[in-house]
Amino acid sequence: MNIILLGAPGAGKGTQAEVLNKDLGIPTISTGNMLRAAVAEGTEYGLKAKAAMDAGALVSDDIVIGILKDRIAEDDCKNGFILDGFPRTVPQAEALDAMGVKIDKVVEIAVDEEIIKRRLTGRRVCLKCGATYHIRTKKPEVEGICNYCGEKLVIRKDDQPETVIDRLNTYHEKTAPLKDYYAAQGKLATVQGTDSIPDTEKDILEALKG
Ligand code: ADP
Ligand code: ZN
Repeated sequence: MNIILLGAPGAGKGTQAEVLNKDLGIPTISTGNMLRAAVAEGTEYGLKAKAAMDAGALVSDDIVIGILKDRIAEDDCKNGFILDGFPRTVPQAEALDAMGVKIDKVVEIAVDEEIIKRRLTGRRVCLKCGATYHIRTKKPEVEGICNYCGEKLVIRKDDQPETVIDRLNTYHEKTAPLKDYYAAQGKLATVQGTDSIPDTEKDILEALKG
């Protein structure tokens, strides 16, 4: 099954992708995590991506489409995948269609904007494995340390309050139109993303059946 998780930054796409990955046994593909890894490694596209990411803007479609295409061609994607953070523009969605990738379901995780702002500014991430935490609602076992790899947790540069506003504007302008795009294909389902993590996952699993 090929699934897209859609939603504003901070709606919980990454968190749900992590739990769905374990329960459905299909890999999660997070373009944000892949881009951050490329920035950390200092690859050519990482260097190009960094300025846009730090500013809360989008990385260019050709770069992101390129890395996504390579990733879904890998062996572990044979039985399906969960896309977290891709597509983020209508041209990216059109590129998926043009590649002949069949999307089964697009689940929008809807969260009120005030809640999103609180979530993003409390977020802490592990740059090594991509796991995310929250200082109030999703604490690591040891404060400031990743549960999975022992790495020190950090605040993402784009989680600074000013940048959060820019990211939300970018979302409304470029990404929200994808709701209509996939609704027109009859693939869109919306769940509320303000319940607990397991309850939201239950709603998503329910939506995937329909
Ligand atoms: P969030 O969903 O919390 O905003 P992500 O980790 O998904 O964060 O993405 C972080 C940043 O990486 C985005 O703000 C954007 O600059 C870049 N990015 C990730 N995915 C895409 C994409 N599909 N197209 C363009 N830029 C992307
Ligand atoms: Zn980690």
